[in-house]
Amino acid sequence: MTKVLRLILGDQLNLTHFWFEKTDESVTYLMMEMRQETDYVIHHVQKVVGFFLAMRTFSQTLQKNGHRVRYFSLDHPENLQNLKNQLEELIQKEGFTRFEYQLPDEYRLDQILKEVCESLPIPSSAVDTEHFLTSREFLKDFFKGKKTYLMETFYREMRRKYDILMDGKDPLTGQWNYDHDNRQALKDKKLLKKPLIHPKRVKEILEMIEKAGVKTIGKIDSEQFTWPVSREESLEILEYFCEQLLPNFGAYQDALTTWDPYLFHSRLSFSLNTKMLSPLEVVQTVEKYWFAHQDQISIAQVEGFIRQIIGWREYMRGIYWAKMPEFGDLNFFGHDRKLQNWFWTGNTKMNCLKESIGQSLDLAYAHHIQRLMVTGNFALLAGIHPDEVDQWYLGIYIDAIEWVEITNTRGMSQFADGGIVGTKPYVSSANYIKKQGNYCDHCAYDSTKKTGHGSCPFNSLYWHFYARNREKLEKNPRIGMMYRTWDKMGNQQEVLDQAEFYLRNLDSL
Ligand SMILES: Cc1cc2nc3c(=O)[nH]c(=O)nc-3n(C[C@H](O)[C@H](O)[C@H](O)COP(=O)(O)OP(=O)(O)OC[C@H]3O[C@@H](n4cnc5c(N)ncnc54)[C@H](O)[C@@H]3O)c2cc1C
Ligand code: SF4
Repeated sequence: MTKVLRLILGDQLNLTHFWFEKTDESVTYLMMEMRQETDYVIHHVQKVVGFFLAMRTFSQTLQKNGHRVRYFSLDHPENLQNLKNQLEELIQKEGFTRFEYQLPDEYRLDQILKEVCESLPIPSSAVDTEHFLTSREFLKDFFKGKKTYLMETFYREMRRKYDILMDGKDPLTGQWNYDHDNRQALKDKKLLKKPLIHPKRVKEILEMIEKAGVKTIGKIDSEQFTWPVSREESLEILEYFCEQLLPNFGAYQDALTTWDPYLFHSRLSFSLNTKMLSPLEVVQTVEKYWFAHQDQISIAQVEGFIRQIIGWREYMRGIYWAKMPEFGDLNFFGHDRKLQNWFWTGNTKMNCLKESIGQSLDLAYAHHIQRLMVTGNFALLAGIHPDEVDQWYLGIYIDAIEWVEITNTRGMSQFADGGIVGTKPYVSSANYIKKQGNYCDHCAYDSTKKTGHGSCPFNSLYWHFYARNREKLEKNPRIGMMYRTWDKMGNQQEVLDQAEFYLRNLDSL
């Protein structure tokens, strides 16, 4: 008799996958909460709770729909806490005749599964997750023979391929990209909307995690967990985004403010990365909503959002599969400092970092510009080892899964890839942070000062970064101008001395 075991990983919660179209008595679905996954990095406690809750909800839905599911909670007495051992034992003891899995998104799990399958006594096969718009190899093949990859070229191809915001072969409204319109600081508090949350009690699951001794970071309110854990909740958040947040999404996408942690961001990354929602349904829903409300929402808002998903998100995945595993060791600048202790507490006098880190610890969330231009910017200017930076980002955010974390962190943010993901390092002095919002208004440091007591560390570290990396960066056509400004600066030595002082005292900034 045929007996099939099908594995569902914690980030494969795609109810629309063909596997679940009809029930089949011969198929058992396997889901596991494992120490292997809770311990490969120190995760935010909300991330562990979020994944387990979403997995449990998914398993219940499958069972309700008539599917057979074997679910191992973390405290299940037969849980071996390791994918390889659990699979081998189940297959051997229960007489499965075939093993099937969906292609994992992480290189680590891909290797484990390949290894397991080679040693199994039964046939095995992998199917696509049916989530992404492109195959793992698409981006590599698309840019074959080219020296550099360009996100914008890839993004336009996705727009054409899926006919999104298109008028035949041309972009609808005549322009591909409205990034220039989308860089405003938020001046009016009244525009802000409360996020749509689905509060849940998570006391029992939290106790189970604590009792098992899983090490976590960050805070959680066990009476009110706020992340979506089902497809229904995720769809409601998408709908709320269209109605309430989309009209201002693009305009304030890069804003930095103490007023609100989410601004007009969608909070959809967890739903997308666990595959409760598909990227295509998200962009098509947003596009459709915009078609019906063009009088209220400008194209810049919509294009900005769609680019993040079919552009950046899909592009990062392509880079990951084109460049792993080497990508994980890249360190273009040879940075080697350790991450400061205050990254784990938020206890720093630099207000932009205190706010961004504090919020990350409280909510397991920071929006893109906080990640890129505050925490990431500082880590790059301070010369922190990319391994250290990666570990932090991979642990702290609810949406952090390696394929999208490492490409953003090591690539886009730390430029440790020497320019595969981006064309130049994202660094800035206090000028940018001040321009984008109100962090500097409440800071112990003076954003206008480069040197002297109380001068903002970003200012001197910024020039120190350029000065120490001159050989590596000067020839970059997008950067050359910075060196002309630097060469004209009168007090170079003073600026470098100030930066050196801060670099010697990073722990107490
Ligand atoms: C250093 C650094 C680390 C990051 N780590 C992660 C990560 O681990 N997981 C993750 O999903 N995103 C990561 N991002 C990208 C981005 O910051 C988050 O996707 C976004 O903040 C999630 O919040 P949101 O859903 O409200 O996004 P919105 O601002 O509403 O954007 C909509 C969606 O677009 C997608 N998106 C936007 N920017 C990116 C991007 N650069 N790369 C990939 N997808 C993008 C996300 O799916 C997001 O949900 C990182 C960015 C940086 C700079
Ligand atoms: S003054 Fe400097 S450290 Fe303070 S908030 Fe502004 S940029 Fe950040």
